[in-house]
Amino acid sequence: MARARALVPALYLSCLAAFSAWVAASSWGTVTGYRSGYALDRQFEAGPALANRVVLVVLDGLRTDRAVELPAMRSLAGRGASGTVRVALPSLSNPARAALVSGAWPAVSGVTNNSAFDPPPIQSLFSLARRRGIESAVIGTGFWRRAFGEQIDVIHAFTRPPDSMEVEALTAWQTQACDEALEHLGASSAALRVVGLLAGDDAGHEYGGESEGYRAVTAVVDRCLGRLVDRLGHDATIVAVSDHGHVDRWGHGGHGGEEPEVLHAPFAMAGQGVRRADPFDAELVDIAPTVSVLLGLPIPANNQGRVLWDALEERAGTAARLRDLEGAQREALAAHMPDRAAALAALKAGRLPVSVVAAGWFLALIIGISRTGRLGADLIAMAVFAAVYGLCFYVFQLGYSISSVVRQEFLYSFFGRNVLAAALATGAASYCLQRLAPPDRASVARLAVILTSVFALMVTYTYYRHGLRMEGWMIEIGPGFKAYMDMLAICGIVTGALLILGFRTLGSRKGIDA
Ligand SMILES: [Zn+2]
Repeated sequence: MARARALVPALYLSCLAAFSAWVAASSWGTVTGYRSGYALDRQFEAGPALANRVVLVVLDGLRTDRAVELPAMRSLAGRGASGTVRVALPSLSNPARAALVSGAWPAVSGVTNNSAFDPPPIQSLFSLARRRGIESAVIGTGFWRRAFGEQIDVIHAFTRPPDSMEVEALTAWQTQACDEALEHLGASSAALRVVGLLAGDDAGHEYGGESEGYRAVTAVVDRCLGRLVDRLGHDATIVAVSDHGHVDRWGHGGHGGEEPEVLHAPFAMAGQGVRRADPFDAELVDIAPTVSVLLGLPIPANNQGRVLWDALEERAGTAARLRDLEGAQREALAAHMPDRAAALAALKAGRLPVSVVAAGWFLALIIGISRTGRLGADLIAMAVFAAVYGLCFYVFQLGYSISSVVRQEFLYSFFGRNVLAAALATGAASYCLQRLAPPDRASVARLAVILTSVFALMVTYTYYRHGLRMEGWMIEIGPGFKAYMDMLAICGIVTGALLILGFRTLGSRKGIDA
């Protein structure tokens, strides 16, 4: 009987860990499985073109503080308009690329992450150009073919990046890719050309956004921008923009999160139709409608950005009409889209009952269980847990932001290290508890129930406040990632506690057998 009763906490903890793992996996599944239902299929009118051609240069992972040091970026900014754009969240490349050519944020484009997405069901610069008989050409990553392949006339994917992330290998690759870009785009007469310069992002990931390696490679990226401007800029307006920045943490970079150095990216544009302007702040989604106006295309129907009028040379007689066209698109989209604030408030109200029950359950567990032991010992054990878990965050290079993952390939190892960190901290805390309180096999289970309840309370709060699933609107990436880490910590605590309990049981059996 006593033995059966001892199994209850272990069973409860196992169920809680399994449930946490399931909630974590299925909440991220709502992001990767998300498909946009917001497509607005309306053709708007367009005004006269301000430029004959536009070349959109996407400088992958270029930080704003680095851009102001680079000669080609500076020269472009000096001749035209420049500033900073707020990028998409999650601050990943593919959601940003989709936003750049559609004017739509991830929830509307449907490109919410780097790997799982369908071609956006919405209008893009490419589809609008094709409808008007305007040719488009792209050279960049495989993303363009996958997302917009049906709409682009000529696509060329770069040769594979080098296996080595040495600075020399990256710069050689970027120089070769630049030759390819010049060859393909130079030979093209397409009025809309897009080129992605990728090596700066690799250097950012590998060395960090403030490193010498990053500086060296972004200098070569900028040199390529200079060559593109020299070769194509005489009859094309150049729009150079970055898709996100990079953190610099423990000798590596990363992005995806909400750090200011990641969330803001530089842009500069010059050429026909662009006037000189003081630097200003804008948003990534403003680029697509601005390029539309430059090329005389309709504004993409799902565009959520604003035309950067401050950057455009408006011709007398057309200014008022162009602004009316922008207003018509904005109005039509506003009428088409559901009210975000009201929808989010309704979802939040729907989460209240479950949140109250869950919070009540975990609070009752913490209070009830802490009364069965010695409060002082429990508190010290919890402090030990917090200290060791925190130390492991440092040693294992963890963090509460997607940017701390460094690279997408490290995602599973990152989460695995978090589970390990929680398990190790549980081991340290239960060791401490055994020293403080009289040896009592139940104390490990008790401690694990208290610790998991604390994490579960934090997850419950995020669930109530922001939701853990993507339901029509982008999930709050910052709190969502923290909740994901907390759910994995629950799995780690349970794993640690069960291992200790298992070893102890084996140990005491051996004692009896002997
Ligand atoms: Zn990128």
